[in-house]
Amino acid sequence: MEAARLLAEARDVTLLSHINPDADTLGSALAVGLVLHRRGARVRVSFAEPDVVPESLLSLDVAGLLVRPDEVPDEAELVVVMDTGSLQRLGKLADRVPKAKKGAVVIDHHVSNTRYGTVHVIDDRAEATALVALRVLDEMKAEIDEPVARCLYAGIVTDTRGFRNAGPEVHRIAARLLEAGVDAEGVTRPLMDEHPFGYLKMLSHVLGRAELDRNAAKGLGLVHATVTVDDAQGLRSEEVESVVDIVRSAEEAEVAAVFKELRPQYWSVSLRAVSEVDVRRVAQRLGGGGHRLAAGFTFEGTAERLLAELKEALES
Ligand code: 5GP
Ligand code: MN
Repeated sequence: MEAARLLAEARDVTLLSHINPDADTLGSALAVGLVLHRRGARVRVSFAEPDVVPESLLSLDVAGLLVRPDEVPDEAELVVVMDTGSLQRLGKLADRVPKAKKGAVVIDHHVSNTRYGTVHVIDDRAEATALVALRVLDEMKAEIDEPVARCLYAGIVTDTRGFRNAGPEVHRIAARLLEAGVDAEGVTRPLMDEHPFGYLKMLSHVLGRAELDRNAAKGLGLVHATVTVDDAQGLRSEEVESVVDIVRSAEEAEVAAVFKELRPQYWSVSLRAVSEVDVRRVAQRLGGGGHRLAAGFTFEGTAERLLAELKEALES
């Protein structure tokens, strides 16, 4: 595998995650980064936005590999991009990809990946990028010990929503990671099950305003909720990002949408579907992307306009 060879030979590696990083993109980058760091390479892991590392992911960085985006060299040697379907999803770090002196390896599981690197390891059937990253590490004959396994497990458990959509092979891999010493509950609880008390108050406001439109999405139903800047005040991105996991439980709706106000008139939208609607195509119509049952896009304008455009995209 060309990617494994490039990584094994590299002396200086910059691993990049997408903006608003989740456990899959950062866990994959930190797992591969840790292996290369131990083999003596100079390694840095970064992402463009927000300014701080999500608190729930900090403990994955056991070797202190994370650096701020302005510390990423303008012309890096080898760049590795994790879990990122298109260059725009790297934000202001996107220009590091074409400038990389030894090229860019793209490791991903997005069906829509635009193949913007020089070497691509993409499996759109993989439930998480961490599974693709593990294949590369196995090809390199890397030792998967507990700190590396923990990073991979974090990506897998979150992208499969607690193994709900994981097939037998993923369970076999999870068993391997547990055998390496991963504490499943210890890793999962901060990522999926834990929030400050203020989260409950925020939910009560946000869910109190949620709406169900049974006629939307060609009659399959849409449930939607809005998290304003005020609602999110004093809370972490983890709290805002997990609202959709609750909104999507409305059984009358095939599609769930959460409109997250980043600043006045500027929204990041999370879309989820149960089984029938391909929300990636819906998000793509609105300039975003993602997976068939989990996708997103950004939108500039009023909440009313956003809802109207989303409903229209759900009809076509
Ligand atoms: P989330 O709702 O968790 O932020 O995102 C769900 C999935 O949608 C992510 O895995 C990502 O692939 C995709 N996604 C979210 N927001 C955007 C966006 O603004 N642009 C693109 N291209 N994909 C997005
Ligand atoms: Mn992913």
